[in-house]
Amino acid sequence: MNMKDTISIGHGGGGRLARDLIKNLFLKHLNNPKLAPLGDSAVFELNGSTIALTTDSFVVKPIFFPGGDIGKLAVCGTVNDLSVVGARPLYLSCGIIIEEGFSLKDLEAITLSIKESADKAGVEVITGDTKVIEKATGGNIYINTAGIGIIENSIALGIDKINIGDKIILSGTIGEHGIAVISKREGFDFESTIESDCASLNEITQKALKAGCIKFMRDPTRGGLAAVLNEIAEDGSLDIKIDEDAIPVRDDVKGICSMLGLDPFYIANEGKVVIVAAKGDAENILRALHNDPLGQNASIIGEITGKGEHGVYLKTSYGGTRILDMPVDDPLPRIC
Ligand code: MG
Repeated sequence: MNMKDTISIGHGGGGRLARDLIKNLFLKHLNNPKLAPLGDSAVFELNGSTIALTTDSFVVKPIFFPGGDIGKLAVCGTVNDLSVVGARPLYLSCGIIIEEGFSLKDLEAITLSIKESADKAGVEVITGDTKVIEKATGGNIYINTAGIGIIENSIALGIDKINIGDKIILSGTIGEHGIAVISKREGFDFESTIESDCASLNEITQKALKAGCIKFMRDPTRGGLAAVLNEIAEDGSLDIKIDEDAIPVRDDVKGICSMLGLDPFYIANEGKVVIVAAKGDAENILRALHNDPLGQNASIIGEITGKGEHGVYLKTSYGGTRILDMPVDDPLPRIC
């Protein structure tokens, strides 16, 4: 068996490797009309209601990091995958896999964090499961959450709704989550401690939806902003033009990224959303984002410039244009 016959860490990275695995294996065998769009949540009708269902697993290392922990992440991540399809999140399940020897004190801290984050997002954990495995690498816990939500007001988002001229809005600064986790993991001692942006997006997305016509939303987690823009471009056969100067990145994140040889466009976020909005409504939606605590640095970062072929083009601060590629894998594994 050679390397190509086995799973690599990059298959979990949310980039090209992960996409190929999903399409060429999972979708090949499990395909159905609800799975095929590969949305953040599946959306379906049930007795006259539109329901969103999603699931996400969390393997972040370390489990406690500046700005959050695996419990908070497990709630926010699933709430956000419901929120970006326009759903109001209602209930979560929580499955926990723990290694033998794990600290009960840490388990309680994580449980309290789950409770606090769920309360904040207005969701309840209504079912769960606990499994214990033999000690492997030591001190590990893995959490899977599934979430169910309801889509109201006939909201129907999709990449197929996007047209030339639509604007691309980013709800805030990028890169903090990945940098916060990697700094803690590697024990980097930077001048400023970057905190994860981990937060539930249910309120800000509902405000945005009320402010104007939104075509599509996605949270830029693994693979970062670059992965989401490339997914939109590829799945919609769209050309996207982005303005580097309009993309909010904190100076300290920029500094750490250049020190580590990382590009903030490819770093994961856990409290940001990319919105594709109708041209005429973009300013109004931007104002609504600015009125939310999570959207203070929201910015219109680009627009859809063509249909038929696909590519993401970045107008750089120096005035040139370069292609912003789909990442192959995540530059920082196990950040969520
Ligand atoms: Mg998502």
